[in-house]
Amino acid sequence: MGREAIKIAGAGPAGLAAAINLAKAGIEVDIFEKRSDTGKRFHGDLQGLENWSSEENVLELLSEMNLRVNFDCDPFLSLVTTNGVKTRYSNYDEPLCYLVKRGDMPGSLDQGLKDQALESGVNIHFGKTISLEEADIIATGPISKELFAVDKGIVFSTTHDDLNVFLLNDDAAYKGYSYLLITKGYGCMCTVLFDRFKKVDECFEVSKRMLSEMFPVDIENPSPVAGVGCFSTRNNFQQGSRMFVGEAAGIQDLLWGFGIKTALESGHLAAECIIQGYDYREVAKSHFEGRLKATLVNRFVWEVVRFNNYAVVVDERLQSRTKRSFNLSNLYGFSSLHRAVYPLARWFMKRRYPDLRL
Ligand SMILES: Cc1cc2nc3c(=O)[nH]c(=O)nc-3n(C[C@H](O)[C@H](O)[C@H](O)COP(=O)(O)OP(=O)(O)OC[C@H]3O[C@@H](n4cnc5c(N)ncnc54)[C@H](O)[C@@H]3O)c2cc1C
Repeated sequence: MGREAIKIAGAGPAGLAAAINLAKAGIEVDIFEKRSDTGKRFHGDLQGLENWSSEENVLELLSEMNLRVNFDCDPFLSLVTTNGVKTRYSNYDEPLCYLVKRGDMPGSLDQGLKDQALESGVNIHFGKTISLEEADIIATGPISKELFAVDKGIVFSTTHDDLNVFLLNDDAAYKGYSYLLITKGYGCMCTVLFDRFKKVDECFEVSKRMLSEMFPVDIENPSPVAGVGCFSTRNNFQQGSRMFVGEAAGIQDLLWGFGIKTALESGHLAAECIIQGYDYREVAKSHFEGRLKATLVNRFVWEVVRFNNYAVVVDERLQSRTKRSFNLSNLYGFSSLHRAVYPLARWFMKRRYPDLRL
């Protein structure tokens, strides 16, 4: 008798990466998405498929995960970092990240992954949910009570040239950052708060004012975007036979809130464990636990260097040098330094975020 179909709850990057890999291995897959299409959690946001947390280029990593780049994916090679007083310009030979669109529009990451899933024979059931007890893989995204960041902004059309600006200023984004990204006439301006979430509207207005004064950009047809991020270091990745992947497992970067790459990786790992008969709890723990703890330490340190609106990070003396890459992979391994700082960082973060499981 053949194997029963695998049931996945949630058709975001994590669920789709799992589904594509299972279907390619000849396993029947049913994926249940509560919204009417893939990507509807987002509204055209420009997001970064980050290329700094591992030595390997993220596009090579995608190909190793049996995923194709059939979506718009623009390399991000220059960065302006400012706190409103000091501004630093950097150029890189290797992309810091690739800009992708999130949403249900053609060219988005979500629609690209959906097409790959359908081509591989995945059955996608839109507008349907299953109880979490019935699912084999839970890929349902953020858990509302485990929030660490809140985001608000706009997407728009513009005639302005490509531009990538990060604004580090507490009035504009408390303990977080604001950004202005433009690629091929499409723009996104947002603020991401890591504290005082209720001030998000006010902070977005400050971000808009500061960014527009420093970088005047014509903004046509603006439409709103918003969202939240969630995180945990105490997820056992599996409950009974149910596997948790992506943000549903709390897998996120607590430093800056980047989770696409790890969502894809965890979905791919869950599929591999089913195909090969490996223990997902153990595999996911060894792959992600140290990394999640490292990002907790990184955020703690980041909040310490926050002094004087990140004056250290935007120091102009560091600018104009073309660097090969913006590789921060050392920050994502749980090094002996991370281990030494971890107890203090965890204590600090537990006080900052009492609702997170840390
Ligand atoms: C505003 C914003 C900006 C971001 N920017 C970046 C960035 O630049 N780079 C980056 O790497 N990350 C970024 N992130 C984080 C990134 O978007 C997420 O980490 C990533 O989408 C997580 O993928 P996922 O598959 O785990 O969850 P999701 O993308 O949330 O997908 C989960 C899916 O499950 C569906 N679902 C939920 N509940 C159920 C249910 N009960 N039954 C069936 N379906 C269900 C949802 O509708 C959704 O389609 C950002 C997040 C936000 C909010």
